[in-house]
Amino acid sequence: MEEKQKVAVIGGGMTGLAAAYYLQKTIKEKKLPIEVVLIEASHRLGGKIQTVYKDGFVIERGPDSFLARKQSASRLAKEVGLEDKLVSNTAGRSYVMVNEKLHPMPEGAVMGIPTKISPFITTGLFSVPGKMRAAADFVMPRSKEIGDQSLGSFFRRRLGDEVVENLIEPLLSGIYAGDIDKLSLMSTFPQFYEVEQEHRSLIMGMKKTTPAPTPNKNKKKKGMFLTFKSGLQSFVDEIEQQLDKGSVVKGVKVEGIEREEKGYHLQLSSGEELTVDSVIVTTPHHAVQSMFNSLGFFDPLKSMPATSVATIAMAFPEEAIKRDIDGTGFVVSRNSDYTITACTWTHKKWPHTTPKGKVLLRCYVGRAGDEAVVDLSDEEIEQIVLDDLKKTMDISMKPEFSIVSRWKEAMPQYTVGHKERMQNIYRNIENELPGVFVAGSSFEGLGLPDCIDQGEAAVAKTLQYLSEK
Ligand SMILES: Cc1cc2nc3c(=O)[nH]c(=O)nc-3n(C[C@H](O)[C@H](O)[C@H](O)COP(=O)(O)OP(=O)(O)OC[C@H]3O[C@@H](n4cnc5c(N)ncnc54)[C@H](O)[C@@H]3O)c2cc1C
Repeated sequence: MEEKQKVAVIGGGMTGLAAAYYLQKTIKEKKLPIEVVLIEASHRLGGKIQTVYKDGFVIERGPDSFLARKQSASRLAKEVGLEDKLVSNTAGRSYVMVNEKLHPMPEGAVMGIPTKISPFITTGLFSVPGKMRAAADFVMPRSKEIGDQSLGSFFRRRLGDEVVENLIEPLLSGIYAGDIDKLSLMSTFPQFYEVEQEHRSLIMGMKKTTPAPTPNKNKKKKGMFLTFKSGLQSFVDEIEQQLDKGSVVKGVKVEGIEREEKGYHLQLSSGEELTVDSVIVTTPHHAVQSMFNSLGFFDPLKSMPATSVATIAMAFPEEAIKRDIDGTGFVVSRNSDYTITACTWTHKKWPHTTPKGKVLLRCYVGRAGDEAVVDLSDEEIEQIVLDDLKKTMDISMKPEFSIVSRWKEAMPQYTVGHKERMQNIYRNIENELPGVFVAGSSFEGLGLPDCIDQGEAAVAKTLQYLSEK
């Protein structure tokens, strides 16, 4: 009998799940003599995806949806037979809180960059000098920098500080929980640099390259995000169901990986040891570094920052909210005296999550440079968040229940130079650890579809490596 080659996928978050699923699928389709084991440190799969089902509510502790435009997540949903369970968000009005006042998001703003002029002229979000400064984008030359630069320096130069601070920063913070003046342009939104290089003016370039929404009189406008009727956890559970029996090991941490003559030796927290031919590591970057502790080229991962945030979901009876706002949520600029960084009216954005007659609000606290709040008690966080919300909403009761989820060092920060540092690590891995591949939110994008893409890409590389071994 032919001896099978072995692959270990380390980490059972979205990246590891996608990698294990697509590996096993290709192995079956091509009848390859390869065996896969998925090793997860905790007692459950899903990593940052965690759904709580309580009193008829579907509550996400971590991610709540994914961008529909990036298709790998819906493709995987279709693969596992969950396509008909996908739901898109209600496309409602959203707001930005600036200097204690809620402003509707100007129509046509793409990540804060205007693609329609008149909503920007009329918005109360910026002062007249702020708007005039942004208009300088029409005449300003393209930037000369060829290397990386911070998102802040790129946008401040093109559109001025006010547009950055009142709109772009709060929107981007919502995704990265980061400091816009430290985050890398080339690792987060290289397309904006490309638009500038091609069209010179960012506003004109975005106007040209953003597809106009197709007019559809009969149908309601569809949202940009997707999730599953029974929460993201149901996606995780279905993928797990479809993995080969006995191929998942939970509650076991990989403590170290060493290269051997024939492959890789994995030290497990269970005391067991495992030898495999190839490894796909999908854990957060600090864990990757500690698994290869003796190899200096992983050191940049040690100093790569990761921000802590917390989410709080609060359930109310409808009558508790006396003054409501027509919309689905808001983000908060740093110049507002608020602790929350964003709030979603989840019952409106995702009606399937909330029983009739109830309201579900979900807020974020914590961002780069302002993370201490995450360590407060649940009661303290609830009080701070309620005090903030009461500045704009009339909330007359305490929530029926609230669920606080702390995400310590969970948002990896792609700071300036990230791409180059990663390329250097990949080059070293290729030379010194052939058959080892790293993938996941710390490396090439942190949205769920980006994680799935990375899992799939690691599968292709692994199979190529094994076929040549
Ligand atoms: C609060 C929050 C909200 C978010 N919202 C969204 C959103 O709405 N949409 C979106 O697209 N993205 C969102 N994201 C980002 C997205 O959730 C993550 O980028 C993604 O889930 C990361 O998946 P992953 O598999 O790369 O890593 P993880 O989910 O972190 O999985 C890694 C796994 O590795 C395991 N592990 C760690 N060390 C070891 C070890 N030594 N041995 C074995 N296993 C180990 C961990 O236990 C974990 O299960 C959000 C993130 C957070 C924190």
